[in-house]
Amino acid sequence: MHRTKTSTPYYENSTAIRDVELVYKELEERPIERHCTLKTGCCHFLQTGETPFLTRGEALLAARAVRRTGRKDLPKRTDGACKLLHPRTSRCLIYEGRPFGCRTHFCQEAGGPYERKKVIDLIHRLEEIDRKLDGTGSKNLHEAIEEALKEQRY
Ligand code: SF4
Repeated sequence: MHRTKTSTPYYENSTAIRDVELVYKELEERPIERHCTLKTGCCHFLQTGETPFLTRGEALLAARAVRRTGRKDLPKRTDGACKLLHPRTSRCLIYEGRPFGCRTHFCQEAGGPYERKKVIDLIHRLEEIDRKLDGTGSKNLHEAIEEALKEQRY
């Protein structure tokens, strides 16, 4: 079992992942009118000009989801879209484990961005998980997941 060196003793990566899952579950249960229609508009970062940023706990969960697809690294992609967007099916490879930003940010088809004040408590919980993992704050999606994948390789 991997144990993270942390200022909060014995906060395991597996515990962090479970805590992030609870945040996502609560988000799904919020009565906010929004519906992802899998159009993947928000996964084309060059087109939107925006890239989701991840806290460390989200990255660990996303990396675990990547590994569950049988991969050890992010797929290659050079068109500016998310590397986790399948090139042929245009589906997210880790949809169930996609980060908070992918669930809440700017996609107009899904109903536009969540009002920050409606999810700020959940954002604070993700930040707290990051802190307990000795994270250094949110990072660009690819960078954050690649870092977590490297760690899970051992
Ligand atoms: S992780 Fe999935 S939902 Fe998020 S931007 Fe990448 S492909 Fe899209």
